[in-house]
Amino acid sequence: MDIQQLICAVQAAVGVEVDGKPGPQTWVAIAKRLVPDQSISLADDSTPDLDPRSQKNIDTLLPQVRPYAIALIQKAKLNGINIKIISGLRTYEEQDALFAKGRPDNGPPVTNAKSGQSNHNFGIAFDIGIFEGGKYLGSSPKYKAVGVLATDLGLEWGGNWKSIKDEPHFQLRPSWAREMTERDMLAALRKRKSDQQEFFV
Ligand SMILES: [Zn+2]
Repeated sequence: MDIQQLICAVQAAVGVEVDGKPGPQTWVAIAKRLVPDQSISLADDSTPDLDPRSQKNIDTLLPQVRPYAIALIQKAKLNGINIKIISGLRTYEEQDALFAKGRPDNGPPVTNAKSGQSNHNFGIAFDIGIFEGGKYLGSSPKYKAVGVLATDLGLEWGGNWKSIKDEPHFQLRPSWAREMTERDMLAALRKRKSDQQEFFV
């Protein structure tokens, strides 16, 4: 079952209109399905209790991606790892500003991706931070553990990339892009964006 089918199935089960576009009620229910552990404290009819930073970044993601981010936070918590979503959507302008950082010669560059070259530009990707005792851990073996949990959920993990590994990075690949290279998927996403087409249908 891909995410679009899952959304419709959950909407039918929750008893809201089946339109494939999840509202808060649906995506919380989806998060619960993705992590079917009863100890997860997601109330059926309310948004989950997230830290404000994660909430703010999750709100920037496409509705189809939000339940995965929520589910990952919950799943990590069940495994004793405290994560926050520290980055979500970046507009083309924000991406270009990030690309300009460190170029030409004021410090190391932050990213190799210009606008339209990052999955963050399409609301399908997010970055996490691991926090211990309120302190941010930029690197930790626990990123690998979260990577495994995320892969279980159906997310792609930047730590599995061949060239430049990006352990805090996660993304949800639309089902039509399953066989595509990253480059081809990005090209298709740029086209869909300029055509104002949905990304997940
Ligand atoms: Zn990222």
